[in-house]
Amino acid sequence: MPATKERPKPFVLPEFCKGCGRCISACPKHCISEGTEINPRTGLVPVVLNLEHCNGCGLCIDACPEPYGLRETPVDQDYELLDPEKLFGSRMTDAPEPVDHPDEAVPLAQMEPLVLKGNYASAVGALLAGCRHFFGYPITPSTEGAELMAKLLPKLDGVFLQAVSEVAAVNMMYGCGGAGMRCMTFTSSPGFSLMLEGISYMIGSEVPGVFVDVMRGGPGLGNIAPEQADIKLACRGLGHGNTHAIVLVPSTPQEMLDLTMLAFDLAFKYRNPVVVLSDGYLGQMTGKVTLPAQMVKPGIPAWAVWGDREHRRNLMSSIYLSEPDLEAWNVHLNEKYEAMKVEQRADLFLCDDAEVVLVACNTPSRMAKGAVEALRAQGIKAGLFRPMTLFPFPIDSLKPVLSHARRLVVVEASNGQLEDEVKLALANAGVRDYPEIEHVRHFGGVLPQLEEIVVKVAAGEEVTV
Ligand code: SF4
Ligand code: SF4
Repeated sequence: MPATKERPKPFVLPEFCKGCGRCISACPKHCISEGTEINPRTGLVPVVLNLEHCNGCGLCIDACPEPYGLRETPVDQDYELLDPEKLFGSRMTDAPEPVDHPDEAVPLAQMEPLVLKGNYASAVGALLAGCRHFFGYPITPSTEGAELMAKLLPKLDGVFLQAVSEVAAVNMMYGCGGAGMRCMTFTSSPGFSLMLEGISYMIGSEVPGVFVDVMRGGPGLGNIAPEQADIKLACRGLGHGNTHAIVLVPSTPQEMLDLTMLAFDLAFKYRNPVVVLSDGYLGQMTGKVTLPAQMVKPGIPAWAVWGDREHRRNLMSSIYLSEPDLEAWNVHLNEKYEAMKVEQRADLFLCDDAEVVLVACNTPSRMAKGAVEALRAQGIKAGLFRPMTLFPFPIDSLKPVLSHARRLVVVEASNGQLEDEVKLALANAGVRDYPEIEHVRHFGGVLPQLEEIVVKVAAGEEVTV
């Protein structure tokens, strides 16, 4: 009777084992255990094999998601660990070309509108946009968003991970977004500041992710009341280097949902983080929210570092040690920022014939809108220009309004950060001829009030109150 041929047993390539543990669960003979040694080349902890009882069934190799994590050892020779490129061929030529697996739209049953807090509305928008991964650290006044994700994501086969800090959370987003998956965080001003280095890395590596920043009073810890304290940070200061991201600014709970959904589309369209810039009042405000007609079932982009053979060729990095290479990369990023200009969005209220144009966004735009109605009732031709994107600033919609505006009044809950964006947008667009900018400003959690806006505007008009 011929001897039974011994089946090959597995061996682990430590450099390619991510320590996920799937092979441990797959082995019926309990031959594999968690490792205890950090691999100095990867910073990860590969598993340990004890093959005394191994029958060579190969279930562990089948379970391993890494193309080179576990391999079969040929029984007739010792296996020397070699460069995988020499063993298995070049990753650029040996694997199939990755392709886009596109998103799918899934129809939603029609239902009555919900009544939701702004933070909840944003979380619901993220789920409908196909986000199943949340990484964050709780911070008032944004925490309800994270809370709802913590309740719902485990039921949707998703991941909610409260990190040890915002610095850790943003780097988890880097990994998740790099794998081509939709991920997000909720944070507020001091937490957003902590994430900036990671955001710079994400921008530099073209990794998408959505940051909902529910702004509060600053500087420092400030307080937990509403302020538009991070306009400058979101538009001009996303970490070191040549960094920009699309900045969406909602003013209602409905827009918290709609713009969060849009944020995921834009993040993947441009392979870049997107910021939804809300404020403490809006995050806590309750309002009627209508759900969309469809939700998104995300696909897998061709560029994703997805962890299979097809995507092995993909690499994400923001490091370019050669100066000309880094300059070329920045030219590419600048071209992308330029392309983002088509994403300008604004809401114009009674601006067609407005002689006094108020500019406001987030919660202050709600007071400004009331002020416009009150001023119109007094016969003053007022209008509200409400940017819904701050980067890119919707200058193309503002320019026609300026042709009949005698006065431009910026209403904001910050120390002039919105006004600076208006001035910069005008300067960059080459607009020289516009009225001197006036303002109604508060900060520290104090919001501009309708009455003071009316008094400010009416004081410069023939009609007075
Ligand atoms: S080949 Fe089978 S028995 Fe051997 S380690 Fe893998 S799963 Fe366990
Ligand atoms: S399944 Fe593969 S990557 Fe995961 S622990 Fe086992 S050998 Fe490592």
